[in-house]
Amino acid sequence: MKAFEATNLYIRKASQLMNLGSRIELLLLSPEAEHNVTVPIELDNGEIAVFSGYRIQHNSARGPMKGGLRYHPTVDPDDVRALASLMTWKTAVVNIPYGGAKGGIACDPKQLSQPEMERLTRKFVQRISMEIGPQRDIPAPDVNTNAQVMAWIMDEYSRLHGYSPAVVTGKPLELHGSEGREAATGRGVIVITEAFINDLGRSMEGVTIAIQGFGNVGSYAAQCAHELGSKIVAVSDVGTSLYNPDGLDIPTLMTFAKTRRPLSEYEGEGVSRITPQELLALDVDVLIPAALGGVFTREVAETVRAKVIVEGANAPTEPEADEIFERRGIVVIPDILANAGGVTVSYFEWVQNIQCLRWAEAEVNERLRTIMTNSYATVRNLVKQRNLSWRTASFVVALGRVAKATVLRGV
Ligand code: NAD
Repeated sequence: MKAFEATNLYIRKASQLMNLGSRIELLLLSPEAEHNVTVPIELDNGEIAVFSGYRIQHNSARGPMKGGLRYHPTVDPDDVRALASLMTWKTAVVNIPYGGAKGGIACDPKQLSQPEMERLTRKFVQRISMEIGPQRDIPAPDVNTNAQVMAWIMDEYSRLHGYSPAVVTGKPLELHGSEGREAATGRGVIVITEAFINDLGRSMEGVTIAIQGFGNVGSYAAQCAHELGSKIVAVSDVGTSLYNPDGLDIPTLMTFAKTRRPLSEYEGEGVSRITPQELLALDVDVLIPAALGGVFTREVAETVRAKVIVEGANAPTEPEADEIFERRGIVVIPDILANAGGVTVSYFEWVQNIQCLRWAEAEVNERLRTIMTNSYATVRNLVKQRNLSWRTASFVVALGRVAKATVLRGV
């Protein structure tokens, strides 16, 4: 099933449960605008290469649109449309004053030099500069884009429209980024995981965790869980899955990851290599997908043995797999709740930029914890009261907020 179709399935399910009616449902399903642009750049060897870039703006009923920018060979309009829609529901479920959008460029960053990446980013901003803005649509990092890319976006947009740090979030600290933003998504994943584990009457101490993907989200999730005494038994990147049943040495792995080397070059005592399929099928308490979407297919879902899946990645679970998890009693805490920590601290960054002030890291982390635990409690209450899955309950909360805003503003 295509990604956008899968997202729409969840929206329809929640809308029907809430009796929103076909008029509102149609509004909630339809993206507001889709910008498809070509992004030509001069390569270092003097040749011209033309890339496809997208910015899809799903819904602005609750505020300016917000969402990441992804550089990856698999980026296509259907994927970006689905991710834009998920941003609408994510910002609504944590109740921050934004709508949803997403962008991407179909490219392989591994094949591009740093100057080529910069030219690509600046040209993309030139192409969409009338469509984004601090009160219109605010990009942020996603797969293969980082603080440096955000700095180029801020600079290029400011060159065209005047000084505008609030046009993009996830910027370097030296350029009005927020303390705590880099770790925010992974930290939020673990705040939610801890709340769930506490509800089971346990602490995070000794909880076993496997994490697919050791980039921004996966590595900080590992670090935060490690600090709480959990045992991270497996982590992976695109080429290698590391396993140690006694728990991996997360501080050393974090230092290693900062050198940007692949996990295939990592050697540690008691560490063995397993296959990506074996990682997903480990008998652990918590499984955290933190790589790309579409990981849990029907076949993979039958092999999972974790008790709870906390979706660090966006859209890692196909709808057929979701049904299998439900039947097998495996709880899935959905992306729109579990990984909302990133957009929450992006919101804090935007607020700080607009007010020209700076919050300390402890304040950012505390505000993040408050928003994530409140959102968790709202969804959990609905799960319990109406006997819904966590995904359906999260969509019900989010759709309720966006539908109300839509009706109040008028079609
Ligand atoms: P990243 O580029 O920093 O890291 C991605 C990681 O996944 C890398 O370690 C990569 O090697 C690994 N990976 C890729 N394909 C894999 C595969 N087939 N098997 C195992 N590992 C694989 O990206 P990120 O920012 O950490 O984003 C990861 C996911 O989290 C994405 O789905 C993204 O949309 C989502 N997300 C990110 C943020 C954020 O703030 N960065 C916020 C919300 C959601």
